[in-house]
Amino acid sequence: MDWELIVCFEVHVELATATKLFCGCRIGTGLAANSLICPICTGQPGTLPTLNKKAVELAVRAGMALNCSINEVSRFARKNYFYPDLPKGYQISQYETPFCENGFLEIEGDGGLMRKIGIRRIHLEEDAGKLVHSSGSLEGSENSFVDFNRSGVPLLEIVADHNREPISSTTEARRYLERLRQVLIDIGISECAIEKGQFRCDVNVSVRRNGEKAFRPRTEIKNIGSFRFINEAIEYEKQRQIELAIKGAPCFQETRLFDEARRITIPMRGKENAPDYRYFPDPDLVEVTLGNDFLDSVRRNMPDLIQGRLSELTCDYGLSEDDAGLIAKDRRLFEYFVRASARIVNRKKLAGWITRDLFSLLKTAALDISASPVSPEKLSELVSLMEHGELTETMGRAVLKEMFQTSRAATEIIEKKSMTPITDIEALISVVQKVIAQNPDAVDTVRSGKKETINFLVGQAMRLTSGRADAREVRDILIKIIFP
Ligand code: ZN
Ligand code: MN
Repeated sequence: MDWELIVCFEVHVELATATKLFCGCRIGTGLAANSLICPICTGQPGTLPTLNKKAVELAVRAGMALNCSINEVSRFARKNYFYPDLPKGYQISQYETPFCENGFLEIEGDGGLMRKIGIRRIHLEEDAGKLVHSSGSLEGSENSFVDFNRSGVPLLEIVADHNREPISSTTEARRYLERLRQVLIDIGISECAIEKGQFRCDVNVSVRRNGEKAFRPRTEIKNIGSFRFINEAIEYEKQRQIELAIKGAPCFQETRLFDEARRITIPMRGKENAPDYRYFPDPDLVEVTLGNDFLDSVRRNMPDLIQGRLSELTCDYGLSEDDAGLIAKDRRLFEYFVRASARIVNRKKLAGWITRDLFSLLKTAALDISASPVSPEKLSELVSLMEHGELTETMGRAVLKEMFQTSRAATEIIEKKSMTPITDIEALISVVQKVIAQNPDAVDTVRSGKKETINFLVGQAMRLTSGRADAREVRDILIKIIFP
């Protein structure tokens, strides 16, 4: 019996604002304990929070970059729980109406195709302080102290959607986290330094039998220190839950810790549900209404992500600087390329087809990439047919032209025209012999040293075969016959 894995991340990202979320205290690390605090971020009675506009801007920017809808009206809520690093006894967070909802992050799925991993919500909340134990850990410490420097630092929480295209393997999990981190760095909302706690992941893991509709209880693994441990924790949790299910033993909804030394997850506490936190709207803060002017300005201030796109194209996709430059300069073009490249092995070749052939068709038709009649998936199919030798480049060019005019798929056009490449070498040789016989002057010119004229002869062979010959092969045969 096969099992399906369902992985959902809750990622907390520390926003790169100069000051805290609800007071004017500066944000910094490595400073003396409690040197960046005030009555507001230490929760003194009688103080009132004032929302940091920059933090809202960065939250909305993230929402836009992650394809979310932005709520026109949102509000803050109190999440009540007791812990000594939380001086007010509640965390100001968001509950019913976060700033951003229903987005997605596109990653390469395990099948090689691009997948849109659902993002349920993105909300803004304040960080808590930090406990400092006299001897490293709570156990065995004589004293514990609280450092409130971190209290009130803005956090963006990005919650994936277990109902909509969830991650289904550890490799996808890794790609999701890496891509998410790259996007957030690119748009300048955080440096996302993992070791500085600026990018923290909690992961929800559950399993179900293939075909099963309902969800089984999930466990949450808190604050895992590195991407590698995240993979190990997910893998361990998956096996553990499958074994429980096979034995018919219950799997409890709970919060677990990953023991980095033993490489296992261990129970920490029963997982809280929303009712445990007794959420209610924070009466100290008014509703936040985001007007069109504000949204427009966030959109305008979205940093140009060309640098990130350039490095992704050259490093991850292996493109030349030139091709990368052409594709990176427009975000939509970049996305087109990424979508088209999902099942292509030779991505340099794909880039060539976009920057050379598709560009010239678009230019002639005065269209831009978002209006291209050839979708990235269709171009991908065409290039992959050539990759598998089922189509010559010349045929591919003709097919692309027709795809561009009709929006039809390559296979449809090829079938209709019954186009198949001439792979039989004897047939190719006889075509070449015919060309030589018909163009004695050109052949003489080539023999006398003007080698460029060979292109003319190749062209004649392509015309005779309606492009069904492989141009490189034709050239080789020509050379062999002309210079025996
Ligand atoms: Zn403060
Ligand atoms: Mn949170």
